[in-house]
Amino acid sequence: MARIVMKFGGTSVADLDRIRNVAGRVKREVDAGHEVAVVVSAMAGATNQLVAWCQSLSALHDAREYDTVVATGEQVTSGLLAIALQDIGVEARSWQGWQIPIETDGAHGRARIDAIEGAELLRRMRELRQVAVVTGFQGLGPDHRVTTLGRGGSDTSAVALAAALKAERCDIYTDVEGVFTTDPRIVAKARKLDRIAYEEMLELASVGAKVLQTRSVELAMKEKVRVQVRSSFSDAPGTLVVDEDEIVEKEMVAGIAYSRDEAKITLRRVPDRPGVAAAVFGPLAAAGINVDMIVQNLAADGTTDITFTVGKADLPRTEATLKEIRQAIGYGEIAADRDVAKLSVVGVGMRSHAGVASTMFRTLAERGINIQVISTSEIKVSVLIGAEYTELAVRALHSAYGLDGA
Ligand code: ADP
Ligand code: ASP
Ligand code: MG
Repeated sequence: MARIVMKFGGTSVADLDRIRNVAGRVKREVDAGHEVAVVVSAMAGATNQLVAWCQSLSALHDAREYDTVVATGEQVTSGLLAIALQDIGVEARSWQGWQIPIETDGAHGRARIDAIEGAELLRRMRELRQVAVVTGFQGLGPDHRVTTLGRGGSDTSAVALAAALKAERCDIYTDVEGVFTTDPRIVAKARKLDRIAYEEMLELASVGAKVLQTRSVELAMKEKVRVQVRSSFSDAPGTLVVDEDEIVEKEMVAGIAYSRDEAKITLRRVPDRPGVAAAVFGPLAAAGINVDMIVQNLAADGTTDITFTVGKADLPRTEATLKEIRQAIGYGEIAADRDVAKLSVVGVGMRSHAGVASTMFRTLAERGINIQVISTSEIKVSVLIGAEYTELAVRALHSAYGLDGA
C-alpha cells in the first residue's frame, strides 16, 4: 500500500466521458489499497477562454481579478470528478486551494506555494479512505484572495501536494505517453524517454516544453518527489524524472524545445553610457516582468540598439513601462515583434562535449533560417528565429542530433 498523488491535465478531463475515464483510473488505485489524492486542471481550453475574457476587457487588467476569473476552471473539474468518483462507489471530496489551504505568496497570476496544510486530507485518506480531489493551479494569498500559479501550474500543485503528504509517487497524467526528445505533436519521429534527469527536465521546461511546468520540476528536485509523466489514455509506462546518476547512457542532447510565447523588443538608438542597461531593465524588473534573452549592439555614433525578449503576455506592460522611462533615458524608438520563436537544445552531455552549438547554427544555416538572438548556459543553447520556421527547424535539429526514432 502506498500513498500517491495523481494529476490529470486539461485534455484528460476535457469532457464528461474523460472525467469518467479518470474516475476509473483513480478507482483502480484505490482498489489496489492505495491512499490517493488527485489534482485536476480545468477542462481543455477553459483557462484559455477565461484568460481571453480578461484580456478583451482590459489589456492591463488587475491581476487579483484575473485570478478570481481564471481559478474557476479547476473548481468545476474538481467537483465533477468528485461526483464521478462517488457515482462508482469511491469515497471522495473536492477541495479548493483556500479550503486546504494551499498558501502562496501574493504574486497574483504567478504565485509561489509557501505551505500546504495536509493534516485533514491525510486523516480522511486514512480514517475514511476518502480520495481528496484538489483543484490545481490555485492557492490562497496573504491578502486572503485566490491566487493562481501561472500557466501549467497544476503540475506544481501536484508536486507540492505530494511533498506535503509525503507521497511515494506523483503521477502526472497527460495526453502523451511521457517526456519525448521533442514535442511529439511536431515531430512524428520523437522518441519517448524512459528516464530524464531533473536538470534536463528543468531546462527543457524552462525553455518551453509544456509537458511539465518549470516550478514543478524545481520543487520535485528540491523535495525529492518521484515524478512520473504518463498518458491518461493508455497503460504504457511513462517517463521517470530522476537524478542524473540514475541515467546510465547519457546522450549529448536529451531534447529540443521551442516556445512561441515570447516577443522580441528592440530599443533603438539608446545612448551608450554607463548605467543605461540598469535604467532599462531595473524598471522592468520592478514591474515584475521577466526578461529572457538580451543582446546589445554598438553603433558608431555613441548609441546602441538593445534587443531582448519578454513573455508575450507581458508585452503590453513592457511597452507601457518603456514609454514611461523614455524621457529619462532618451532612446529613439521601440519596435516589438511577436512573430518569433525560441528554439533550444538541452542535454547534460554538453558539459563534456563541444560542438553542440555549431551543429545547431550549421543546421539552421543549411535551411536558410536566420538567427536573431543567441543565448547559452551550461547545458543549453537557445536561438530566436522567425516563428514561421519553428516546425522546420525543430525537425531539422532533431535529425541533426541523431534523435529520430523508428
Ligand atoms: P496537460 O493539459 O496534461 O497539462 P500540456 O498541454 O500542459 O498537458 O502538456 C502536454 C503537451 O506538452 C503535449 O501534448 C505535447 O504537445 C507538449 N510537449 C512539448 N514538448 C514535449 C516533450 N518533450 N515531451 C512530451 N510532450 C511535450
Ligand atoms: N488550467 C491551467 C492552465 O491551463 C493550469 C494547468 O492546466 O496546469 O494553465
Ligand atoms: Mg500542463
